[in-house]
Amino acid sequence: MRLILLGPPGSGKGTQGVLLSQYFGIPQISTGDIFRKAVAENTPLGKKVKEYMDRGELVPDELVVEIVKERITQEDCKNGYILDGFPRTVKQAEMFENMGGKIDAVLYIYAPDEEVIKRISGRRTCEKCGAVYNVYFNPPKIEGICDKCGGKLVQRDDDKEEVVRNRLEVYKEKTKPLIEYYKKRNILKEIDGVGSVEEIFERILKNLKVS
Ligand code: AMP
Repeated sequence: MRLILLGPPGSGKGTQGVLLSQYFGIPQISTGDIFRKAVAENTPLGKKVKEYMDRGELVPDELVVEIVKERITQEDCKNGYILDGFPRTVKQAEMFENMGGKIDAVLYIYAPDEEVIKRISGRRTCEKCGAVYNVYFNPPKIEGICDKCGGKLVQRDDDKEEVVRNRLEVYKEKTKPLIEYYKKRNILKEIDGVGSVEEIFERILKNLKVS
């Protein structure tokens, strides 16, 4: 199964990606996570992408496609993969297709702007174990502290409200055209992204006709 998760930042793509990865036993490939790790480790890639990320802008297409190409040829991708946050532009989708990248379904998870802004600006991640909370919807028992490991909860730099608004604008201008692109290829599945994590996961499985 080769899937793409498409939707605005804060639509729950990452969360659903984790569940789908467990369900199908295939890796979730988040280009955002790959870039964040590179920035944290200050690698040559990290140095190239940091400025774009800090502004909520997209990293150049060629660079992203190169990273994805390298990743999907690894052994763990032989039975499929879940692309989370890629492609983000029509150009990326075309480049992916031209290099022989195959996709079975594109899950387009949609949610209203105000909802996604609250979800992202409320998001906090544990520095130590990576557990994710939300100060509005899923707060930790003690503010700022991870329930699971006691680690410190931090906000991603690009989750600050002004950057979130810019990311949403970039999404509308550059990424939304992909909806039409995949509709034409008859592989777009539209999923209502408002509801509990479990409800949305059920909707996805139903849509993929595997539940
Ligand atoms: P995400 O965690 O998917 O929201 O990605 C965080 C940031 O990483 C984005 O705001 C972009 O700067 C960069 N990024 C991630 N994936 C892509 C992509 N496919 N194309 C361009 N930039 C990306």
